Amino acid sequence: MSNIYVIGHKSPDLDSVVAAISYANLKNKIENTDIYKPVIAGEANKETKYILEKYNVALPEKLDSLAGKKVILVDHNEFAQAQEGIEDAEIVEILDHHKLDFKYSNPIEVIIKPWGASCSIITSLYMQNLVEIEKSMATCMLAAMLVDTVITKSPTCTDIDIELIKHLSGVAEVSSFEDFGMEIFKVRSDISDLSDEEIIKSDFKDFNFKDGKFGIGQVETADLSVFEPREGALLEKMEEMIEQEAYHSVVLFLTDIIKGGSRFLVTSTDEARVEKALGSSLENKRLYIDGIMSRKKQVAPKFSEEFDK
Ligand code: MG
Ligand code: MG
Ligand code: MG
Repeated sequence: MSNIYVIGHKSPDLDSVVAAISYANLKNKIENTDIYKPVIAGEANKETKYILEKYNVALPEKLDSLAGKKVILVDHNEFAQAQEGIEDAEIVEILDHHKLDFKYSNPIEVIIKPWGASCSIITSLYMQNLVEIEKSMATCMLAAMLVDTVITKSPTCTDIDIELIKHLSGVAEVSSFEDFGMEIFKVRSDISDLSDEEIIKSDFKDFNFKDGKFGIGQVETADLSVFEPREGALLEKMEEMIEQEAYHSVVLFLTDIIKGGSRFLVTSTDEARVEKALGSSLENKRLYIDGIMSRKKQVAPKFSEEFDK
């Protein structure tokens, strides 16, 4: 049997990488095989490397093209966010927690839940199938859920996620998931050795709206002030992306996970309409909005309402 590659989105975040690893492992166990191979769609970010190294879980290899391959997409379903070659891949399954934006010529298995993390869905599948989650795997899955739900504070976090986070904390022998979450966000907040591009691209998604291509990056941090001296350079780099990669707008929002709000840096071919989408005015391409923590539930919908009518 040929391999089936389990892969998350481009600009891989912790949830997409750990979802690929843990879901491939679950499928292999259930079907008593080893054909499911976790792979990644790009360079792993800082906290992903930190967590996998710390808990001795191998970082999957990068797969540069999906063309001609059998694949399971985890943590995404929009082609704009999928690895190159997706149009020529055989998609066998999707497991995700984002809105469905997917058309396909064959009937396939689609598992989508409106939960806070792909790893939450996978945890529940381990439980349903009575497959034991090994401690190191449980710790990585817990870490992914804490990042995606911003330590349960994100509006995307559901009661089920909280139940599953508590359950995995037990398996992982983590006494305080809040402390564990803060440990990971501290790793994220150290940006001193990251280039401007690495900061922008560390969690970056493309959206193909009717009025153009939008790139929306997010950084969740425990310390907004470390970004302040770099905002000008970040905006310059984003401006360059607009010119070179034909974006309508490139937006980076820096989420203060303690205060529960986000500082937006905006470069756009039509700033006035971005202001309309966000419902407030920019000052020198910058803006703080209280209460905004989620791209999926709050930011992307604002842009799609304005630019994807
Ligand atoms: Mg993700
Ligand atoms: Mg996710
Ligand atoms: Mg996220």
